[in-house]
Amino acid sequence: MKKHNFSAGPAILPASVIQEAAQGILDFNGSGLSILEVSHRGAAFMAVMDEAIELVKELLDLPADYEVMFLSGGASTQFFMAPMNLIDESDTACYVDTGTWASKAIKEAKAFGKIEVLASSKADNYTHIPQGFDVPSYAKYLHLTSNNTIYGTQYHWWPDTQVPIVCDMSSDIFSRPVDISRFGLIYAGAQKNMGAAGVTLVVVKKDLLGTVHRHLPAMLDYRLHIENGSMYNTPPVYAVYIAMLTMRWIKANGGMRQMEQLNQRKAQLLYDEIDANPCFIGTTRKEDRSLMNVTFLAAKPEWEQPFLDACKAAGCVDLKGHRSVGGFRASIYNAMPLEGVQALVDVMREFAKREQ
Ligand SMILES: *Cc1c(COP(=O)(O)O)cnc(C)c1O
Repeated sequence: MKKHNFSAGPAILPASVIQEAAQGILDFNGSGLSILEVSHRGAAFMAVMDEAIELVKELLDLPADYEVMFLSGGASTQFFMAPMNLIDESDTACYVDTGTWASKAIKEAKAFGKIEVLASSKADNYTHIPQGFDVPSYAKYLHLTSNNTIYGTQYHWWPDTQVPIVCDMSSDIFSRPVDISRFGLIYAGAQKNMGAAGVTLVVVKKDLLGTVHRHLPAMLDYRLHIENGSMYNTPPVYAVYIAMLTMRWIKANGGMRQMEQLNQRKAQLLYDEIDANPCFIGTTRKEDRSLMNVTFLAAKPEWEQPFLDACKAAGCVDLKGHRSVGGFRASIYNAMPLEGVQALVDVMREFAKREQ
């Protein structure tokens, strides 16, 4: 039976991307070689890297003064690499604490400058996005986490500030149009919405770099990666290839507007069912609900396992919620078709009929 994969990450990829990626292992572009065994400096892979960088520019509609990098180390490396490159010890950077990943970013940044946490939703277990905070003009940047993968909240607005925004977009990159000119730097681990694990996308406005005085090890200096076209050392070749294929798929399927429309329809279908179905309860404030990670609980705790079993029987997998929220989490990234969400909603309806 075809499985509907609701995993939070590594997560669902388009079936056609998996096919092409598999083919690339056997015979990369008709070269008679596997992509796993060709030089990253050869023409064939250089074309992949070039296309990947071009696709990021195109999909995000990047202004000319932004640079694109494909790096290793996951989004977790960006938690310290961004402050290391952007602030000196005497500088202030501001953060908003909206969940596990945001608080890890805060913790890491503290080693490199003065960190002010402007707002936090920790007191209510991160079930909303804080509003009404002021960003001091002396801040060198404001750090946000656009989508909180674990708690199921997402920014549907951006703070009104002249301070450059640094944003962890790991779990909603390429899911909707964003005006990049409002951001100084964005980063995203690929394994949620843009490919397989092993590569991280970083986009930065050039003029933010080169202002810090500390020594930066080569591998942690954005400028060196930019100068070398993300080829300072051997890049994660296969992960870059899969990210490129996924971006091609996004483009061929209508780009950001089309992704957003479909993501809104999927999320609406599922949230409407959660709100209407007496067996389930949404966990987050409605206006901050994530279009990517839908978190909900069983109205009676003893329904939790039977519901997971019913999901599994219908081919809907990886729906168990993160331990810090409990209940269920349905991750419905770009590659999840509407039919997958419909299959889950059908299980929820059947479950209610049976239990009520
Ligand atoms: C998954 C995730 C991370 C961690 O990513 P790694 O690539 O595992 O380091 C960071 N931030 C967000 C928002 C995530 O969803």
